[in-house]
Parts: sequence; structure tokens; C-alpha cells
Amino acid sequence: MIPKQTVQEILDAARVEEVVGEFVHLKKRGVNQIGLCPFHNEKTPSFTVSPAKGIFKCFGCGEAGSSVDFIMKHEHYTFPQALKWLAQKYNIEVEEEEQTPEQILAENEREGLFAVTQFAAKFFEDTLHNTEKGKAIGKSYFNERGFAEHIISKFQLGYSPDEWDGLSKAAITAGYTQEYLVKAGLAIKKDNGKIYDRFRNRVIFPIHNASGRVIGFGGRILVNDKKQAKYVNSPESIIYNKSNVLFGLFTGKAEIIKKDNCLLVEGYTDVISLFQSGIENVVSSSGTSLTIGQIKLIKRYTNNITILYDGDAAGIKASFRGIDMIVEEGLNVRVVLFPDGEDPDSYARTHSADELKSFLENNSQDFIHFKADLLSNEAGNDPVKKAGVVREIVQTIALVTEQLNRVYLIRETSELLDIKEDILTNEVAKARRKKYYKDNKEEYIPTPAVTPAETQIITANEGDISQEKEIIRLLLNYANLDFNPFDAKILEKKIKENSQEEGNKENNEDEIIKVGVFILDELIYDDIKFDDTVLQKIYKEYVQAFHEETLLSEKFFINHPDEQIRQTAVDLLTQQYSLSPLWIKDHHISTTTETDNEVIARACISGVYSLKSRKLKKAKQELLEKTKEITDKNELANNLLECKEIDKLLNELNSKLGRIVYE
Ligand code: ATP
Ligand code: MN
Repeated sequence: MIPKQTVQEILDAARVEEVVGEFVHLKKRGVNQIGLCPFHNEKTPSFTVSPAKGIFKCFGCGEAGSSVDFIMKHEHYTFPQALKWLAQKYNIEVEEEEQTPEQILAENEREGLFAVTQFAAKFFEDTLHNTEKGKAIGKSYFNERGFAEHIISKFQLGYSPDEWDGLSKAAITAGYTQEYLVKAGLAIKKDNGKIYDRFRNRVIFPIHNASGRVIGFGGRILVNDKKQAKYVNSPESIIYNKSNVLFGLFTGKAEIIKKDNCLLVEGYTDVISLFQSGIENVVSSSGTSLTIGQIKLIKRYTNNITILYDGDAAGIKASFRGIDMIVEEGLNVRVVLFPDGEDPDSYARTHSADELKSFLENNSQDFIHFKADLLSNEAGNDPVKKAGVVREIVQTIALVTEQLNRVYLIRETSELLDIKEDILTNEVAKARRKKYYKDNKEEYIPTPAVTPAETQIITANEGDISQEKEIIRLLLNYANLDFNPFDAKILEKKIKENSQEEGNKENNEDEIIKVGVFILDELIYDDIKFDDTVLQKIYKEYVQAFHEETLLSEKFFINHPDEQIRQTAVDLLTQQYSLSPLWIKDHHISTTTETDNEVIARACISGVYSLKSRKLKKAKQELLEKTKEITDKNELANNLLECKEIDKLLNELNSKLGRIVYE
């Protein structure tokens, strides 16, 4: 038990933005801070932290609470464990009896595995520093590798003795069970029921999760012995899921946030050597090829990844897949290629820290230049192979989720490879469509090339267009979905708990209509016109069909004879969600992943009302412009009346919007 007084002290000290900030890359937005939710997958931030209120809330998945709740959920801690974590962070002493190994084991299996793994880490570290063999064999190996004493401590490196059951014996003496030693992958059970250590006579690299708990180990052999594996690794367990773990993340995360960039290297030794040279924002996926889970993990801290490759080209082409995955997750990727025969570890050892830093700065390339250089060298003057290079680059650009980035990358490629932008734009659009059909398991119908819609769209007024796009996106994705406008208000109630609108509740409860009917009704009534020509065309198709009491389906547009309509439709269908950046700015709306009807309802209502509101503001602006030139008093009065009328409508809209907007 932690004394009440201490609990209060901890709660008073904990600042939600600091606590959450340890795990989530937060950016200031108004009085709040926002970031990518660590509790569900998302590409645009809907996770909001309010320092003033001391709470966090995710508008995508609904997770919410205080600093303690956050730690409990994020680290899978109990309440007392979360308090202890906070106490440690804020240097508050907690006087409490140490738990015995038995108590810890009883708590649950997970905690049991953490405990035995923690014990092992201490044991290996202790063996390295405090035994004759540890010092003579392990330590001298690290010294030969050039690892400084403080770095050995920082990474909690260790040594496993040259015995069959050195660790197991010590653990069992300390009260841990065979079962947990085996479950944690530290020991292996023989047929006769006896166990022996997995790590024997190896130097040990402990692997930490993002909050610093040891979850597994890598053990490197000390001698050159072809019969034995160079590295032995912990197997997966309930606390160690390899595809969601990065070596170096715990030691590097603060610097990753600060530098807003994460370096990705091959293994333990590369991470440690770079760290020792003062480059701390570095991680490795040790032993596995890069996974989506690992990319998402990095994304909590930064949107920028720089991959560091060894000089030998053999593995590099295989790693193109990694680049594609990063791009597909919406992150920016750059690449540094080391000279032949060098890896980050060897380079760091043979060069000064400054040399290393400037090498990284001067040699990082975006993936287009990297791929182009590498592939062009191979292709030489062979035109067929050259076309292959273009295709390869186009494929990657097609994976980029942000349209603006695609346009930029196309421009880059066009200059670099001397190919017309139009051609590349068409190729990228084609690749995107192909991917869309593939993902949706429909047959791909090649279409004749026409003008590039991508470049056109962004040259128009981006603010208006993104609102218009959102409306069309909602229609394409959800037109036929049953929708209860009341759902959006449920959400509003959750946010503003002391809402005074209880009275309306009953009336609205069974007001179920289709998303398409709601949107089209609202917009047709106000005679809204879209500024973007393609979006207006799509909207007009919807309206015409709606007058004939039909709600068009997305198929109608995917197979539309007009190429621009087809392309826009596919683009909007492949965008999972896209609240306009402008309304986010204007209204502090947090973006969502649209996993439930509530969220779609909210998106519909805010989508329609925001668009209307913007159109009205524009109309008013035009009226005011006109007013300047009017000399007739009556006309002037009329004009101002009209302005007031618009203001009234705007107020109404804003109060409707206010209900679904989180301030
Ligand atoms: P050397 O001193 O011979 O260069 P090394 O320990 O640096 O040996 P490399 O073969 O250069 O190892 O591999 C680079 C990195 O890749 C290592 O630091 C290690 O983290 C990682 N690695 C290699 N093989 C494995 C493996 N089987 N499991 C986990 N990690 C591995
Ligand atoms: Mn090496």
C-alpha cells in the first residue's frame, strides 16, 4: 500500500502533458496539445491532451482519463504500479514494502515474465561487472569493440556465464519458477524435464520496451565459431512481440522527438556505436526485417525516418520493401548509404563524432534519388531497364498518402529522370487505381491516359476544396449508410457533460435517415455550388439522381466514363478519412478513424455545416465588397439587412457546429 498522502503528492506532481509526452509526440494546438493516439491506429492525430484540465482524450477510439489512467492503459499497469511509475518520474519517494518474487508471480503471468526478465537482466549485468570471467571475457570483448564504460551501463549490457544453468540456478534460488524461466525464453526445457540456459558464454544486449522495461535479450558469441549462431535471441513471449519492438527506442526516444527524426540501422552494435558518438536518435529492428508495427511505433514520436544502409548493395534492393512500407504509413523517408564495406558501427569507430555527423548530413537522400541512383547504375543505357527504373519509382510515389507530397515527388522525379510531369502524373494515378482495385479485389480496367487531375486540384483554393472534397468523400463512402443525426449529439454529450439539452433527446432518437439523404437534402435546400469543377460534376450527378429518388453508389463513379471523375472518386475512396486541415484549425476538431456510426454522424454534420458556413461567409464578403460602391441609401439598407440575415444564419450554423466541436 502506498500512503494516501504520497498518492496525493504524486497526483499533484504529475502533469498530463509531460506524462503523455513520454510516449506520444505532442504538438501544441491552441490551449491543447495533440498527437497520434497510442491506443489505436491512426494516421492523423485525434488524441488530445488538455494540460489545463489534466486529462487526455482520443476522439478516434474514445480512450480518456488522467495521467494515471494513461500510464495504466499504456503500460498495462495496475493503479499502484502506475503511481510508482509516476513517483519515479517526479522523484517522489514511495515508502513501501518490497514485493517478494512470489507476490510478483502471483499478480499475473505478465508481471511474472517482466519480473524474471528483469532479474535476468540484472544477473547478466552483474556477471559482466562483478565476476572474474565476466570481466576477463565479456568486458574485454566490449572494450575491444570500443564501447565506453558509461555506454555499457546505459544499455545495461551483460554477460552470460559459460555454464549450462548459471542463470536458471540463480533465478530459482531467488524464488522464480522454472515455468516462468521457460516462458520468458531464458531457459529451454529438455525431454527429461530439466532446464538449461538459452544464453551461455555470450555478451548480452537487453531489449527494452518504450517505457524502459526489459522484455528480451540478444546474445552475441565471443569467438569465431562457424558451428554456432553469431546471435541468439529471446523467442517471442507475451511480453515480447518482435514486430512491435525496436532496439534503442527507449534510450533514443527523447532525442527522436527533439530531432524530429529517427535513424534506422541494422542491429545492436550500430545503435550503440552511434549513440556513443553522440547520435542518440537511433533504433534497429534487430533480427527481423522492418514491420508495420515498428513503423507505427516510430510514428508516435516522429514522422521522419532515415534508413542507414551498409555499403554492400546486396541487401539494399531487398530493403526497398521497407521504404515502401514507411511511405505507405504516411512517413517521410530518407536514406544514407555507407561506403563499400562499412556499416554505421565500423564508420562510427573509425571516424570522429563530427565526421560521422557531417557524413550523415551530407549523404542523406530522399528515396527517389536513392532509388534512381542505385537502379540507374544497374540499368546503364538499356532503355527497357530504364523504363523499369521509372516504374519502380512510380510504384513508390503511388503509395504516398498525401496528394501534395505526391505532386512534389513527381516534380522531383520529372527533373531527375528528365521525364514529362504529365506522363509521371498519369503513371502514378494509374498505379493508385490499380492498387485500389487490387485492395478491393475488383478487376482492374486500364483506362486511356488523359489530363492529370492531381496537379489541377491543388492549384484551386485548397481551403474550400478540402471541405467540398470531404462532402463528396462522405457521399462516396457512406451515402447508403443508415445514420442518426442524434448519434453525433451523443458524442457531444460525452464531451460537454453538463450540456443543457437533455430535453431534445427523445424527439431525435428515432430520426434515422441515410447519410446521402441528409447531406443532399441540406445542400440542395441552400442551393450550394461547389467551386472545384470535378467535385461539382460529381455533386451534380448525385443531385440529379436524387431528384429521381436514387442514391448513387460509389461503383457508379468508379466506372464513370469521365476519367477525372473516376480518378477523383478512387482518390477519395482510398482516403480513409480526411477532415479538412482548415476546419481542424478553425474549430479544433480532432480527426478520427471513423470506426463507428457516431463518428461518421459527427463527420457528416460538421462537414455539411462547415461547408455551408464557409459559403455563407463568402457570400457576406461579396456583399460587403459591393456595399462599398453603393450610393443609394435604400439599396444600402437592403444590403445591410441581407448581411444581417446571413449573420443570423451563420450564428445558427455555428451553434449547431459548436455542439459537435470540441474546444
Ligand atoms: P561483427 O563484429 O562481425 O561486425 P556484429 O556483432 O557487428 O559482428 P553483424 O554481423 O555485423 O554483427 O550484424 C550487424 C548487426 O545485426 C548486429 O549488431 C546485430 O544486432 C544484428 N544481427 C545480426 N544477426 C542477428 C541475429 N541473428 N539476430 C539478431 N540480430 C542480429
Ligand atoms: Mn558489424
